[in-house]
Amino acid sequence: MAYNLFPNSGDMVLNSSASWGPTTNNYRYFRNIVAHEHGHGIGLEHVCPVATTKLMEPYVLTNVDGPQTDDIRGAQRQYGDHMEAVSDALTYAAIPANAQGLTSYTNLSIDDNSDVDLWKIVATAGTRVSLTVIPQGGTYTAGPQTSACDTGTSISASSIQNLKIDVLSSAGTVVFTQDANSLGQAEALTNYEFTTAGTYYLRVAPVTTTNDLQLYSASLTITPAAAIPADVNGDGAVNAADLGVLLAAWGSSLATADINHDGMIDGTDLGLMLSAWTL
Ligand SMILES: [Zn+2]
Repeated sequence: MAYNLFPNSGDMVLNSSASWGPTTNNYRYFRNIVAHEHGHGIGLEHVCPVATTKLMEPYVLTNVDGPQTDDIRGAQRQYGDHMEAVSDALTYAAIPANAQGLTSYTNLSIDDNSDVDLWKIVATAGTRVSLTVIPQGGTYTAGPQTSACDTGTSISASSIQNLKIDVLSSAGTVVFTQDANSLGQAEALTNYEFTTAGTYYLRVAPVTTTNDLQLYSASLTITPAAAIPADVNGDGAVNAADLGVLLAAWGSSLATADINHDGMIDGTDLGLMLSAWTL
């Protein structure tokens, strides 16, 4: 029906006389064949066993839509993830598209024993960042193609590299490291505050390097400095409404009511609020 070769003759050939299957699921049969041939075009070979879990199995799949975990890992192992060009070095790390609020990413990866992923943060004094990284991939079985195509190796794709999060100064010096959890688990940097204005970087890196690929998802939240820190409800005044928010959060670590950002809503925050009282 189709073929494609790597590294030469990489122009995909589709058989115009073939029946291209049902239109079900927005032409998934056709789309999966084209995506599979693209896999060959970028250098991926067939994988086994036949379990209808990998687009590069040697038969057409219609129970899944497009590249699956093993296919994505194979492509990124060779080419990096979709952020690779703007995340590998301080000099060209990207500023997040959302200057404030949440940006979510899926299918990022640390793809070998030297890869790191960087975000550039331009902060004013009091800007806070939160970054959560979650290993992706689960467990599946895959291996090289054999004539019977019934064997493979179990791969724990979520437990390849133990990830950590570093906060770097503009010069690239590590000023904080978040590394609370072990292999296969998430890491969460929560409300890290930049006390002085400047350029900083967030870096996802492996704790110990392994020459293999760890897929992960990430959530990055940038919270600008409050104009008046004690104005916890953001209405421009420090008054009884803010006191209500603070008392409701008393004893907790609710970030919006934690005026001095020490991880606890307590008498210190109350003192700061009363000294800033405007009504
Ligand atoms: Zn093929």
